[in-house]
Amino acid sequence: METLMIRTQTGSYPIFVGKGLLPRADELIKDVYSSSYIITDSHVAPRYLNELEKTLRNRQVFHYIAEAGEQSKNLAEYNRIITDMLEKKLDRNTCVIALGGGVVGDLAGFVAATYLRGVAFLQMPTTLLAHDSSVGGKVGIDHALGKNLIGAFYPPAAVIYDTATLETLPFRELQSGFAELIKHSLISSPDFYQELKKAIPERSMLTPDAVGSFLIRGISVKAKIVELDEHESGPRKFLNFGHTLGHALEKELGFGTLTHGEGVAVGSLFALKLSEAYYGHPLPVKELAEWYVRLGLPTKVPDGLTAEGLMEQMKYDKKNRDGHYHFVLMKSIGRPETRQVPESLVRGTLFSFM
Ligand code: NAD
Ligand code: ZN
Repeated sequence: METLMIRTQTGSYPIFVGKGLLPRADELIKDVYSSSYIITDSHVAPRYLNELEKTLRNRQVFHYIAEAGEQSKNLAEYNRIITDMLEKKLDRNTCVIALGGGVVGDLAGFVAATYLRGVAFLQMPTTLLAHDSSVGGKVGIDHALGKNLIGAFYPPAAVIYDTATLETLPFRELQSGFAELIKHSLISSPDFYQELKKAIPERSMLTPDAVGSFLIRGISVKAKIVELDEHESGPRKFLNFGHTLGHALEKELGFGTLTHGEGVAVGSLFALKLSEAYYGHPLPVKELAEWYVRLGLPTKVPDGLTAEGLMEQMKYDKKNRDGHYHFVLMKSIGRPETRQVPESLVRGTLFSFM
């Protein structure tokens, strides 16, 4: 087991990463709560819920199983959970445990942040993508008008990441999370990027074990940035590398068509190419594209989308509403910067991705 402490202005919490941590959850949870309320989904529950409930046997343990998928991250589901907790008369000494991927983590975190003005919250991620989503304290749900529009900054008391759970993850979800890990390497250091590429050069090498050895490194990239800028006024924006086009693709296609990581993969490549055009010096765009191809990740905008639609989405990104195009660019690998980019440059680069 590896342990990382994250220290922010609002507090500090441990992140435990290792194989076989699920059955040890009870010993890793330091505080004693009157009850535990586990929120999980319909894919994760049959595999891991029982195992977790058994370890928490000393306490009153309840669970809620949401339908797997992004469509559960909404107000209706949130209301059902809060109602269930109220009916069970759960008090403020309750601990909400998120057992699942980013969907469950975001939903359960928002429940924890708001139930009786906030109860304890534990993240137990089970997807590769959740190495990103479970760290940093952003929780929330979607609104019909857009993704993640309702939420809070609500750090967990701890993150307990049993990497053995990745063994049952569908391969496409592993690819998706890997794209986010690649992003963490791109924004942090050329060495990390090269080591990752060398260790996992193609899809047959993309296994939970291979990825597991890099997880703590990916998490520390995120943790360090969050420590510097918990509420996203500066460097935390770097985590958005690849997400401007990524989000636009997800929105235009309808959520669920492309995985989040697939969007981030195309978006990262696009942002790197845009960086090349912006700074006027070569960057390893081709190298990254070839790696994505070997990993089975997309490198182009999927068919059926128009440049105009994507330009519009990128202009009015949730984090970017002044009508200009803002991107996280890369002067070189490991040196991200936030820049306003002229429309013509964005458009020109986008055409080579269509
Ligand atoms: P997810 O939670 O939907 O999980 C992906 C799929 O894998 C689901 O079908 C799930 O049921 C299944 N699954 C999960 N664990 C499994 C396991 N161990 N074995 C078998 N199947 C398993 O999606 P995700 O990719 O983990 O997360 C995406 C969500 O995370 C999005 O809603 C996104 O907005 C959010 N997110 C949040 C942050 C943040 O900082 N809060 C950051 C990035 C993404
Ligand atoms: Zn992301």
